[in-house]
Amino acid sequence: MLTLTPEDIRLGCQAADWREALSLASQELEKAGRTTPEYHQGLLDRENQSSTVLGNGIAIPHGTPDSREYVRSTGIRVLQFPEGITWHDGAKVHVLVTIAAQSDEHLDILRHLTRVLDKPGLAERLANATDRNELLAALSRTPATARCDRETLLLGLPTTDTRELALSAAARLQALGCVEPGFIAGLVAQAPVALGRGLWLAHFGEGVNQPALALATPSKAQENLSGVLCLATQGEDTQPLLEQIDHLLTQPTPLGMLSAEAILARLAGEQADAVTREVRLLNAHGLHARPAKQLVQVAREQAAPLKLRLLEGDAQAISATSLTRVISLGARRGQTLVVSASGENAQTSVDALAEAIEQGLGEPVTPLHSSERERTATDQTVQPIQSLVPDEPLKAVAASPGLAVAPAFVLRMPAMDYADKAEDPSAENQRLNQAIDEAFSQLEALIKQAEGGEAGPILAVHAEMLRDEDLHEAATEAIDEGASAEAGWWQAIDTAASAQEALADRLLAERAADLRDVGRRVLANLCGVSMPTPPDEPYVLVADDLGPSDVARLDTQRVRGLVTAKGGATSHSAILARALGLPAVVGAGERLLTLDDGVELVVDGERGCIVPAPGSERRERLQRRLEQLEELQRDAHEARLEPARTRDNHTVEVCANLGNTAHTPEAVERGADGIGLLRTEFIFMAHSEAPDQATQEAEYRKAFDALDGLPLVARTLDVGGDKPLDYWPLPAEDNPFLGLRGIRLSLTRPEILETQLRALLSAAGERPLRIMFPMVKDLAEFRAAKALVDKLREEIHAPDVQVGVMIEIPSSALLAHSLAAEVDFFSIGTNDLTQYTLAIDRGHAELSAESDGLHPAVLRLIAMTVEAAHAQNRWVGICGELGSDPQAIPVLLGLGVDEFSVTSRRVPLVKACIRNLTLDEARDQAQKALGLATASEVRELLEAL
Ligand code: PEP
Ligand code: MG
Repeated sequence: MLTLTPEDIRLGCQAADWREALSLASQELEKAGRTTPEYHQGLLDRENQSSTVLGNGIAIPHGTPDSREYVRSTGIRVLQFPEGITWHDGAKVHVLVTIAAQSDEHLDILRHLTRVLDKPGLAERLANATDRNELLAALSRTPATARCDRETLLLGLPTTDTRELALSAAARLQALGCVEPGFIAGLVAQAPVALGRGLWLAHFGEGVNQPALALATPSKAQENLSGVLCLATQGEDTQPLLEQIDHLLTQPTPLGMLSAEAILARLAGEQADAVTREVRLLNAHGLHARPAKQLVQVAREQAAPLKLRLLEGDAQAISATSLTRVISLGARRGQTLVVSASGENAQTSVDALAEAIEQGLGEPVTPLHSSERERTATDQTVQPIQSLVPDEPLKAVAASPGLAVAPAFVLRMPAMDYADKAEDPSAENQRLNQAIDEAFSQLEALIKQAEGGEAGPILAVHAEMLRDEDLHEAATEAIDEGASAEAGWWQAIDTAASAQEALADRLLAERAADLRDVGRRVLANLCGVSMPTPPDEPYVLVADDLGPSDVARLDTQRVRGLVTAKGGATSHSAILARALGLPAVVGAGERLLTLDDGVELVVDGERGCIVPAPGSERRERLQRRLEQLEELQRDAHEARLEPARTRDNHTVEVCANLGNTAHTPEAVERGADGIGLLRTEFIFMAHSEAPDQATQEAEYRKAFDALDGLPLVARTLDVGGDKPLDYWPLPAEDNPFLGLRGIRLSLTRPEILETQLRALLSAAGERPLRIMFPMVKDLAEFRAAKALVDKLREEIHAPDVQVGVMIEIPSSALLAHSLAAEVDFFSIGTNDLTQYTLAIDRGHAELSAESDGLHPAVLRLIAMTVEAAHAQNRWVGICGELGSDPQAIPVLLGLGVDEFSVTSRRVPLVKACIRNLTLDEARDQAQKALGLATASEVRELLEAL
């Protein structure tokens, strides 16, 4: 965005007339390397078309669109003329804000400047400023408008708790980038304030990137609760926002009965009886000064006072007869303007202005082409999509284990073309009801088919959603306001799904996918399109994304594997794929969809990659792996209770990672030698306030009882940074992963750590307890935490306790020798260790595929850790995901790891994998891997072995 800085400003300029002033300005732009000399003519031509004086002593010369070719780089020069210049239209000008813009960036400057135009005494201040910052301050005013649009509305949330509604609204603002996590932390510490008519306000003034107003409403409105507004402002003049809120409070209809559009209209100050019309702006350079002037002229000619607002952005409606305000909208090509008026002649006035805008306000207009349409909708640049390369693996996210090779069947969703508007609401409502009934019958049939399986309950939820009265009501309301059945229905689905997505609870948020899934089913019925039919032969299903009902519909006799362009390992479709035992790889990116039907595709759910058209060598290797895998799975299950002993008699332990102690019996049944990582933060997250000692003790006791003498490695509370606890508000941090988290955070609240340690020691009694501290960076942190354990062990009888640290920060691996002298054990958290070593956020959507724990840099840190530990007779475990990776197991074993702690489900396979190795072979592989340069070299080596 183009912004003004003091360096752009020249004070004390003098010129005999406006032409000389313009020439000076043009020279300044040239000197700054922004323009070539030809641009000067562009500035003159523009003035010849019409004056660029904005008012209040400011003019904004800029070149004609034709002269943009003379702009080298976008920039501004501000020239102050203390004595003033008489412009060619007779106005007195003190400041020239001269703009060289390659596209429409100058609209932002314009928009900004128009906000200061009504400042009293501005012209004088501009003329007399003696300091560049003073002039800058005079030209700037923090906008008092807040983002408030469809995306900041969360309607019909399944809760009646004001705090939860406030939190959901705040979470949405964070997701939209308007606020930082610190805003949420501050907001939860305050109770929302009642405004009347069931409306509440939650306001916080820190951690705000952009002023914004969100509204969250409950699905069932109550007398004292119709909605919670969440206002994020930081030092702005909030008066206009409070006025907006007042519009909502004083409008007659109960909030629960208003659609998203109606709420935005009321917030914008449009009356309930206002006539509105939406119109897309098609002018090549947006609503710049000339078309804006024309617009104002047309508006002034109308009998009814007209208002104008942008559908996107802040919801404020401005008077269509004020030039500065119209310009201040900063409307760009492709954006939608809402024209409105009330009272007599409203309709004709609205139509006249809307038509003038449609016709270009004196400028030629061209319709938007589809790529522009997408760009306007998402505000993102469209990147060309590369296609996949035959026999070249494409890395993605492993969502369900297994290996498959079969021709691809690419599920291309049929286009659902429909009109947005319809004439006859009752006919549209009837069509919608029919489509819903049809969808209901389809779901009933699917539920029957899925009987006894995992998909049944999900499909039953879908059927339930179809009968949701609120959803139906929202759709009907939109239809009654003129929407077609398709548009009304999809709008209701989209609003409800967006509201779900904003919920802090991840499981509830995932229901958004179900809502969209069920919504698409009805939409397809309305549009009369049927889904593509898969081939009769076995195939790998390839799709952009898969809804749960798509997966449930799969014929498992023919589908060999699933690959999706979108999605993560925790999506419902991934969970279902695991339940169906289908190998799946997700998040493979849009390139995937360039695949032709019938191309042979390898789905490697173990390594998280796909290979199109594998070559004959790769196919042979795959075939061998497939056979081995099947045999391994059979044998693994049978031998799950046997120890994990290599062919040359080296035994390691294979334990389970758990977040919930209730799953301990299942882990033991799967052959786990103990719990190698209990993520105790899940116990804390399951409570709305810190669980007391008795509550925690009961949880830990459950695990010890089920383990029946097997060891429990409990990690102390690992929260903070990116995983905050509701009841433990933390200040905002720029880099949460590098902030107050893990043991650092616990040491700031020793009382919480002490309660946890007391509960662990008391629950253990004589049973084997291993306590480990997360995110320890050096000995000082370990000593501070260990001192607490030592103190408590003087009071509590717990004889079989070991105290260790997680190695997940490179510093602790590098200093393992000093730590090993004092700890009892190490457990390597490869998820974080990889993140910190490679500097790749472990959750990064695009980079996480490169965040590979088999990177030689990570392997070297593991080797150092094991070496240091063994030198002092300490044992080393591995509890990150790398321990479950079949390719990594021999390397880790070869590096000397003594214990593997893996997802409970993987315990039998990991044990079986170890039984197939010899320690010598493993050492050899580890040494080779350590000598390589990249993670892919390591993977290639291991694949070739
Ligand atoms: C790790 O970082 O590898 C680890 C096991 O801890 P978490 O995944 O819980 O951060
Ligand atoms: Mg970790």
